[in-house]
Amino acid sequence: MAESLYVHVPFCTSICYYCDFAHVVYQKDLVRKWLDALAFQLHHTAINPKLKTIYVGGGTPGCLDADELETLLQMLDPYRRYVQEYTLECNPESVTAEKAALLVKHGINRVSMGMQSADDRLLTAIGRRHTFADTKNAVSILKQAGIHNISLDLMYSLPQQTMADLQDSIAKAIGLQPTHLSLYSLTIEKNTVFGRKGITPLDEDTEADMYEYICRELPRYGYRQYEISNFCLDGCESKHNLAYWHYDDFYGISCGASGKEGLLRYDNEKNLMRYLQNPLQRHEIPLSRQDAQFEMIMMSLRLKQGLDLSAYQRRFHHAYEEDYGLKTEALIKRGWLEEKDGYVRCSEKGYEICNTVLEELMPEEE
Ligand code: SF4
Repeated sequence: MAESLYVHVPFCTSICYYCDFAHVVYQKDLVRKWLDALAFQLHHTAINPKLKTIYVGGGTPGCLDADELETLLQMLDPYRRYVQEYTLECNPESVTAEKAALLVKHGINRVSMGMQSADDRLLTAIGRRHTFADTKNAVSILKQAGIHNISLDLMYSLPQQTMADLQDSIAKAIGLQPTHLSLYSLTIEKNTVFGRKGITPLDEDTEADMYEYICRELPRYGYRQYEISNFCLDGCESKHNLAYWHYDDFYGISCGASGKEGLLRYDNEKNLMRYLQNPLQRHEIPLSRQDAQFEMIMMSLRLKQGLDLSAYQRRFHHAYEEDYGLKTEALIKRGWLEEKDGYVRCSEKGYEICNTVLEELMPEEE
């Protein structure tokens, strides 16, 4: 049975210009109906009582008011008995002492916060509603409440962002002493404010220089890179996200959430109105064994540690070497993959071109 649960909160106070996640602008009456629908879905879903991680993401869970947040967290209380890591995502402007106390009361021990940049001019330019001062304040409130496991998200390759801007943001983020940092480059999807306005990110060379800087700079402060976009202090990896990267099963609850059960992936209804009508409606995608094998490789090669060959064998009752041995050998010869201590991983060079490595490993169409 899955040991991780993802709960999607589909509301945001406003829409950031680069975002194409499933969300709607916060409306009190819709939140009330959504909470009822969520209760219904939870009641009708068999969830492992021994979950190890819960992740409440969005959207912006923090945009719920204190009463709504309490209702949500009370609903999740029955599932947290054995949970080791219980994360809630929030944006800096929505953190208050009252909400922080609620999080602690309901066992949340990790917060993931969308800081994005320390430059208020850039934050406005990408449609964020907070300033760097809000991030500082939010981190301080959470720490005073007793939540010290804090992850900050930063973005790079933003329009008009310079290397000096990025360096400043990284230095200021480190100054807040988070346990974990996630750094994502801007991608512009058609169906976003930026996409519709024809805004483009920075050129590929600048983006590559920024990524190289990030990978060089963060370890100097103790933030070890453990995944393409993720860095942490010792022992502070995101346990929940590791379940995804290890290709473990997970439950997805609420509209817009996805889940995985063995060779079945499912997407819950994305449209909030349709979800409210039938919270159990979901789109199921059966996976062939070959699909699942490749997906596991794809997720695991994002990790510095790479793919655990014994985990692959346990999951598919088949040796990795039998399925991917020849292609792997060829990629080892090219210096893109390495095999060591029971793991196959990207080399330094392979990590930089991870997508190309995956293309080479991709099974031929049958
Ligand atoms: S980036 Fe986050 S806060 Fe902004 S609109 Fe998307 S989900 Fe909401």
